[in-house]
Amino acid sequence: MSIDACLAELSDLAVDTQPQRVRRRSPDFYWYSPILERRLDAVTADAVVTPRSEEEVVRVPAAAYRHEGPVTARGGGTGNYGRGMPLRGGIVLDISELGAIEWIEHGRVRVQAGRKMAELDAATIAHSRQELRLHPSTHKTGTIGGYVAGGSSGVGSITWGLLRDRGNILGLRILTMEAKPRVLELRGADIQKVNHAYGTNGIVTALELPLAPAHRWAEAILGFEDFAAACRFADALAREDAILKKLVTVIQAPVPYDWLFPERGIAREETAVLVMVADFAFEALLDLLRLHPGRLVWQRFTDEATGGRLPLFEYSWNHTTLHALKHDRTITYLQTLFPPPDHLDRIAAMAARFGEEVPLHLEFVRFGGQIACFGLQLVRYWSDERLARIIEEHEAAGCPIFNPHAFTLEDGGMKKVDALQLAFKREADPKGLLDPGKMLGWENPDWRPSERAFLYEAH
Ligand SMILES: Cc1cc2nc3c(=O)[nH]c(=O)nc-3n(C[C@H](O)[C@H](O)[C@H](O)COP(=O)(O)OP(=O)(O)OC[C@H]3O[C@@H](n4cnc5c(N)ncnc54)[C@H](O)[C@@H]3O)c2cc1C
Repeated sequence: MSIDACLAELSDLAVDTQPQRVRRRSPDFYWYSPILERRLDAVTADAVVTPRSEEEVVRVPAAAYRHEGPVTARGGGTGNYGRGMPLRGGIVLDISELGAIEWIEHGRVRVQAGRKMAELDAATIAHSRQELRLHPSTHKTGTIGGYVAGGSSGVGSITWGLLRDRGNILGLRILTMEAKPRVLELRGADIQKVNHAYGTNGIVTALELPLAPAHRWAEAILGFEDFAAACRFADALAREDAILKKLVTVIQAPVPYDWLFPERGIAREETAVLVMVADFAFEALLDLLRLHPGRLVWQRFTDEATGGRLPLFEYSWNHTTLHALKHDRTITYLQTLFPPPDHLDRIAAMAARFGEEVPLHLEFVRFGGQIACFGLQLVRYWSDERLARIIEEHEAAGCPIFNPHAFTLEDGGMKKVDALQLAFKREADPKGLLDPGKMLGWENPDWRPSERAFLYEAH
């Protein structure tokens, strides 16, 4: 590879090669994991290229292909599995300047990949009171392209399910990594080739997504002295189909008081249930709460979170871990599926097994037509061996872990790279230059998918 020759071809684009700046702009949130922190700390790109138009983007894979330079696409850089780390150097392709909305219709939008999700929602709400069905808790900083390439679920998943679900992505425009990069429009089942593939088999330049009606969202913290009672309430709320909701989160005591929001009136012994419901559904929420042993601790509307005040969802999903890490750098986390229909029993078993070593943080979601739970448990980290043991015990108890301490698609456990995925990779990235090192099945021809559960099967 000759990165200098490659960059010389791109010299009229915004190319940053200043080593300190490139080193600062190379990482994502890999450091969430103590294991990835050790493994990836020295990783840096050779340059960051920031195209201002799709015509400029096309020139990057074309030049990189000629000179065999790796290219790792970058949106907001909030990926937390090290998925966006430029393992083999080369170019970080920053697509954050590509944010144009191509059109908005009733029920859908077409937008370039670099648009920040909060800015996309602001535009569709202003246009026609519509918003994204689901978004990660990194709504403000993540891009819509990065979410589809690297994310999976989030705020809204309690009503709309996961990004993997048919109908949650309508179309993707991608660029291949070839001498003459092709523009492909993926629709239907083909979308899954690129959805959650970490940008290993195409650079997403535009997306067509369904929209939901935008409502005024009421957000509340509810307190429960009994953890199991909090879980039962959250499960009951998740099943109330007529209460329109966006968030049902359970965070075990004493995390809410110690690390999240002591100033909002939660007691140290209380487990918090965080909820977002449509304003007109708030009364119904309180009706349901009266049937359970919990109390309303705090309430506001999400649109009142202005002037540096955080919306409640910025304490949910992977933000819970971020707040905990600010208090204690020895904390890390897991990402677990508590499968239906006996997710509450499995949660109770893991709570009893690990106690204070693994404080539970649960996100209730609609999962294959049922209600299930993702655990983004916090873990008091002692050693790699102990962490591996905790993971093994969860898996043995029927709770698959999507391991956030591994940076490949397969080891992370969310994406099954099968023959179809590999065939598409051969077509879209024949030299294996896109986000190299993240797809085991490509790196090692003898690698075979294991029998473990994957969140994303290829089709
Ligand atoms: C505090 C915090 C909270 C989070 N909450 C959630 C959550 O609720 N739900 C969730 O699913 N995830 C969550 N994540 C993970 C991450 O934020 C999301 O996946 C996010 O949407 C990524 O967007 P990004 O623009 O920052 O992507 P980046 O981090 O820039 O990229 C993510 C991956 O996609 C690739 N990529 C980026 N843009 C493109 C493109 N245009 N074409 C091809 N590949 C591309 C990158 O190479 C990388 O592999 C969270 C992470 C953090 C740190």
